Amino acid sequence: MRAWTLGSGSSGNALVVESGGHRVLIDCGFGPRALVTRLRAVGIAPESIGALILTHEHVDHAAGAERAQKKFRWPVIASAGTLAALREVEARWRRPIEAGGTLALDGFALSAVAVPHDAAAPLAFTLTATASGARLGVAHDLGAVPDALRSAFRHCDALCLEANHDEALLRDGPYPAALKARIRGGRGHLANTQAAALAAEMAGPALRAVVLLHLSEVNNAPELATQTVRSALHRAGVHAAVHAAPRRTPAEAFALSGVRAPVSPQLSLGV
Ligand SMILES: [Zn+2]
Ligand SMILES: [Zn+2]
Repeated sequence: MRAWTLGSGSSGNALVVESGGHRVLIDCGFGPRALVTRLRAVGIAPESIGALILTHEHVDHAAGAERAQKKFRWPVIASAGTLAALREVEARWRRPIEAGGTLALDGFALSAVAVPHDAAAPLAFTLTATASGARLGVAHDLGAVPDALRSAFRHCDALCLEANHDEALLRDGPYPAALKARIRGGRGHLANTQAAALAAEMAGPALRAVVLLHLSEVNNAPELATQTVRSALHRAGVHAAVHAAPRRTPAEAFALSGVRAPVSPQLSLGV
């Protein structure tokens, strides 16, 4: 399994995941021209993508979804609440998935988890590669970590998690009080310390990579976010690579090789 971030943050989010020759796009927060340019920069033809998966309808995640869908004729997988905001997508391309649901895609098994965020019906996802068994957890905007997410994200080989802000930078920064309250609220965005605690709690023997998403340009810094998460993983005795997705440039998120070792029965108990 391999993945690339094409952009991350309030200026637009998109993530490509590949396994066994199959590719999916998660979120499409910029227009088709920027999308194609960024895909080509990492050697990916848009036509090679099999489906578009959306976490929620906010513009930084879905601004280019309708136009890209029309151009490349991708099926769009999202909650019914998210799909309701995409009026231009014809019924035959809509693939609703609800929290707790799973879908078999070419190359992947997709599972959805509800997350608290101020959108219609936002979801986080796990993608399990059919070829290798590798499992990825992707959680974009979320204000708090629900128990269902903790269950779903255990035993992942890679995690892509929101690390939006440093609490002190947000507190002392220039945003108006109401916006600060929205960001740090239970339906806003995750702080570095929350992402770090989640990563450390989810970390098991299979975890190889943690990619931090959606860093605020004003209230965060890549070194601060990565160091906060690295320290938490170190304290938990886990040695996974940690990096922050670049804001506007495409970059490889991780590349996992080989077939995943089966999770031992003891570790599976209680999941
Ligand atoms: Zn959002
Ligand atoms: Zn967002």
